Amino acid sequence: MNPFLELGIRHEIVNAITELGFEKPSPIQEKAIPVLLTGNDDFVGLAQTGTGKTAAFGLPLLEQLDFSSKQPQALVLCPTRELCLQIARDLEKFAKYIDNVHVVAVYGGANISDQLRQIRRGVQIVVATPGRMLDIIGRKAIDFSNVRYVVLDEADEMLNMGFQEDINNILSETPDDKKTWLFSATMPREVRRIAQNYMTNPQELTVGTKNTGNENIEHQYFMIRAKDKYAAFKRIVDYYPEIFGIVFCRTKIETQEIAEALIKDGYNADSLHGDLSQQQRDKVMKRYRERNLQLLIATDVAARGIDVNDVTHVINYSLPDETENYTHRSGRTARAGKTGISISLINAKEMSKIRHIEKIIGKEFIRKQVPQGTEVCEKQLFAIVDKVHNVEVHEEQINAFLPQILESLQDLSKEEVIKKFASLEFNRFLNYYQDAPDLNMEAREARGERGERGERGDRRTGSKGYTRLFINLGSVDEFSRGDMLSYICNKGKISGKSVGKIDLKGVFTFFEVLDADVDSVFQGFNGVDFNGRNVRIEVSGDKPSSDRGGRRRSGGGGGDRRDRGDRGGSRGGSSRGGRDRERSGSGSGSGFRDFSGKRRDRESKNRY
Ligand code: ADP
Repeated sequence: MNPFLELGIRHEIVNAITELGFEKPSPIQEKAIPVLLTGNDDFVGLAQTGTGKTAAFGLPLLEQLDFSSKQPQALVLCPTRELCLQIARDLEKFAKYIDNVHVVAVYGGANISDQLRQIRRGVQIVVATPGRMLDIIGRKAIDFSNVRYVVLDEADEMLNMGFQEDINNILSETPDDKKTWLFSATMPREVRRIAQNYMTNPQELTVGTKNTGNENIEHQYFMIRAKDKYAAFKRIVDYYPEIFGIVFCRTKIETQEIAEALIKDGYNADSLHGDLSQQQRDKVMKRYRERNLQLLIATDVAARGIDVNDVTHVINYSLPDETENYTHRSGRTARAGKTGISISLINAKEMSKIRHIEKIIGKEFIRKQVPQGTEVCEKQLFAIVDKVHNVEVHEEQINAFLPQILESLQDLSKEEVIKKFASLEFNRFLNYYQDAPDLNMEAREARGERGERGERGDRRTGSKGYTRLFINLGSVDEFSRGDMLSYICNKGKISGKSVGKIDLKGVFTFFEVLDADVDSVFQGFNGVDFNGRNVRIEVSGDKPSSDRGGRRRSGGGGGDRRDRGDRGGSRGGSSRGGRDRERSGSGSGSGFRDFSGKRRDRESKNRY
């Protein structure tokens, strides 16, 4: 007998989920479904994302609602629009063979009148993000008096995103005798408080150990100097030719910069962050879902609710500010029983953070060495060999040309032909990684290389009398510190004496300017373009323009507008990217005279 039938799920639903490939219940489904089917209890389920929570609450809901009525009977609250749509779609799929099931997805950033129309037509299940739900309640456009079940999905995420008040307000609109089912990956105090305040003796279930990450995830870290981070990151990506990954950054700026640098370097990448319009985000997600993107660079907030199977790697380009977020990030890989790798790039000072995360997830990290250039080349070579092996041959089309091809190659032996074909791609990696240095921290130290002057202090504020500014250009754009100094003076129309410390980073730079000259710099850089990218200057705050919004300033006062233009620019150039040399900037003599938009010695081939 089908194990879902044994759990008490009716045939129509079992048929639908069988078509979706559900053969047996996942652990959370196996445990939660029998409890939820009784419909008698409040419920708390602790499980990571990707464990099948949607069906764990969705199937019992479908079993218990009355679809002959068109009144809302179940409300599912979740943190993001993506998740909201996903849940609504899943529920509709589960209900494929049940008549008159109406599910509405209610979320911000979309036309409210369509959503209101659907509600007026009659729905039994409302799946909603809290903000939009409150809006609709405020318009008295929905009647919750018949609601029997409220599901709080990814409750910890909703609280992280500041929805506490909204949830309280929404819950108070629902009948007292409804049952509340709460699902969460972690159980911080705030979630516990919701359980205490709004639930009566909830049945509590945990799948895996509390707060434990998915067992199928291997957690790795690489210790590198800040200066080498971008190069090491690219090397790791190159080491996994089949990577399909999500790269997490801490701020919108970092996300955008890394994505831009990767695109420029010929990688198939794009960014996802809160400054994008909903339409832009949908577009990026669609490309990623369809695997037209290989690397998605995202902020924590933007990546919430991303449900893409087969993500091979999560890369923490920067560790999250909130340690708890690590679980959410790494949970984007190893979904639905697959395995995955979660990689963190850290410097020596961040080791304590890793130890802290280990405690939370109850699992040890494995320290890995940044692959040497030769190792990357080897990996790439065998990936090419595999590709050759697996490539589909269109016999008919190619046969017509075969005699000519054979004739042109007849002076070569079989071995020579193989070598040459493999070299077509392989040479690029050989050239690129020729003389590539060992990027591991110890190797750097053993060679007596110290951190950059600017790295040591890591001061966020300028020295006395100076303002610390941010510019979205750095060593990957082939600036040395000297180049940057000249560039700033030239564009900002200030003398070299006005410029204080310059912290040249991979994709951006912090520099100090005498307070009196700050306006001149902003004016000078207004509308300036570098290789098709708008150059952006900002005052560096404690949290430079993070997702939570740091102090921002932009030349000409049009910060946001310029921001958008910048992104547009990078998109437009996405296919042109050549690969930058790994070690750039330092002493390359690439003076700013060359900044006319021409790139030197680049290969113009897109990598993927
Ligand atoms: P969560 O809500 O916990 O993040 P989902 O419910 O989205 O996880 O499930 C993750 C993936 O696993 C989805 O693609 C879903 O279709 C699939 N899935 C869920 N339950 C099963 C099952 N019993 N058998 C096979 N696949 C499943």
